[in-house]
Amino acid sequence: MKGLMQDYPLTLQHVLWRAQRLFDKKEIVSKREDHLHRYSYTDMTRRAARLANALQRLGAKPGDRVATLAWNNYRHLELYYAVPCMGAVLHTLNLRLFPDQLAYVIEDAEDKFLFVDKSLIPVLNQVAGRLPSVRKLVVLSDGGPLPEHQLGETLDYEELIGRESEDFAWPTLDEWSAAAMCYTSGTTGNPKGVVYSHRSQWLHAMAVMQVDTLRLGENETILPVVPMFHANSWGLPYACGMTGAKIIFPDRFMGDGQIILDLAEQEGATILGGVPTIWINLAGVMEKSGRRLPKVHTVICGGSAIPRSLMERMDRLGLRMLHAWGMTETSPIGSVGTVRSWVPADQELEARLRQGVPAAGVEIRIADLATGEELPWDGVAFGEIQCRGPWIASGYHNNADPGRLTEDGWFKTGDVASMTPDGYVVIVDRTKDVIKSGGEWISSVELENAIMAHPKVLEAAVIGLSHSKWSERPVAYVVAQPEFKDQVTADEIRDFLADKVARWWLPDEVRFIDELPKTSVGKFDKKVLRNQAQPIDEEVAQTAGAPAG
Ligand code: AMP
Repeated sequence: MKGLMQDYPLTLQHVLWRAQRLFDKKEIVSKREDHLHRYSYTDMTRRAARLANALQRLGAKPGDRVATLAWNNYRHLELYYAVPCMGAVLHTLNLRLFPDQLAYVIEDAEDKFLFVDKSLIPVLNQVAGRLPSVRKLVVLSDGGPLPEHQLGETLDYEELIGRESEDFAWPTLDEWSAAAMCYTSGTTGNPKGVVYSHRSQWLHAMAVMQVDTLRLGENETILPVVPMFHANSWGLPYACGMTGAKIIFPDRFMGDGQIILDLAEQEGATILGGVPTIWINLAGVMEKSGRRLPKVHTVICGGSAIPRSLMERMDRLGLRMLHAWGMTETSPIGSVGTVRSWVPADQELEARLRQGVPAAGVEIRIADLATGEELPWDGVAFGEIQCRGPWIASGYHNNADPGRLTEDGWFKTGDVASMTPDGYVVIVDRTKDVIKSGGEWISSVELENAIMAHPKVLEAAVIGLSHSKWSERPVAYVVAQPEFKDQVTADEIRDFLADKVARWWLPDEVRFIDELPKTSVGKFDKKVLRNQAQPIDEEVAQTAGAPAG
């Protein structure tokens, strides 16, 4: 028997419809250089229609890629709506990519139109002359002269859309058609293009709104510090359009704790969203000034694990962090750290430090790193996270990479985790970084965290290097706090670790360096470390060996 329900396409045009018809009283606020820009959701949709008309006049066709190099602001949001809803594909460029990667992703995506914030012209200028596919370059600007550049002719966004009508005949779209593209940050090899469909964006937005996930609703005011150019901005631009939550966009001031605090306070933020570094900045400013944000009930944090010290510090400031895990390929919400109803109060902190339980719509399993067999949820066994669901990637643009899918269709994330019996994900490492010593696994991330808790240490990265007896052994690269440079020893680090990790986890060598290599998005680049590393000197190394050693 067939269900008797309408064949209603899940496209972003529905989100546009809500924004236009229901949220004229709801504000979108954007930080500008010397003032705040404000307008309503309905105003946003009117300008999105003008933009769609302009793009059509410029020759944009269904499926054409329209790239953005922009901060979190209202014009970027207009692009988020106009481009997919007219049938083109929004490609958000990560402005932190190295120039070669930036040129590569623009070419790989074959971007035809490129919209750039005036303040980011210098970033784009680094790839001037290397943009063969780009036909029109449009500058998003509040006015004034442009920085010097060699990018050729540019159009002005306001002039372009100012000439157009506020009515646009949005075409009927297939829910499976591409809506947006986002490239991975490429810790291994070239960045890869993840292609979101209308359907996946729609369902992901529905998931993001839920009380047990990111808690968005019409009566919330959200300050998204997570960039609109990274990991689909956690789906917030569309979840906001679904709910009508008030938005506060920080533009290029994301890393400025003072401005984030001012914006959150003045505009009455109730939810903040961003990576740990942002909250470290904010906490510093709040501690110094004594100012607090009593209206904020949730600080969503993802992108990397929340250090315990940060969560405790934020708790003292009255800011409750909500841990989320995901990746560009998972749209990105995979799991969210809501505390389960039966967790006793004295175990709440532990629960919140984990990476959360699978969001409704995502199935997660863990697979043995050697055999691929599914592992139990006992909180001990760890393996690669595999997931499936309607907003999980099934491949990459121009690159099928079947290696990322299991035979039965689950996506292999490359993250290593255990699952607790209560269904919490506990991230342990990346598959490429976990170290195998004497047949047993050592988590490089856990070792790094333990080393970084040492008061004289600023940063630490641990890699596995080959060893004749144990196959691999951990070696730590440590950057001392500036005031302790040359005043901390390998023995001091090893002694410090002695009661924190198993004896056979102790690094064979601790090597002090001035700076750790980082990827374009600021994660430790262990590939570079591994390539440059001197082999372990087995004569002098203090090998504690494998489990039995
Ligand atoms: P990206 O695709 O650039 O957003 O990077 C995604 C990767 O960041 C994931 O595969 C994880 O390795 C890491 N990551 C994201 N969220 C978390 C988290 N809450 N805890 C630990 N690692 C995380």
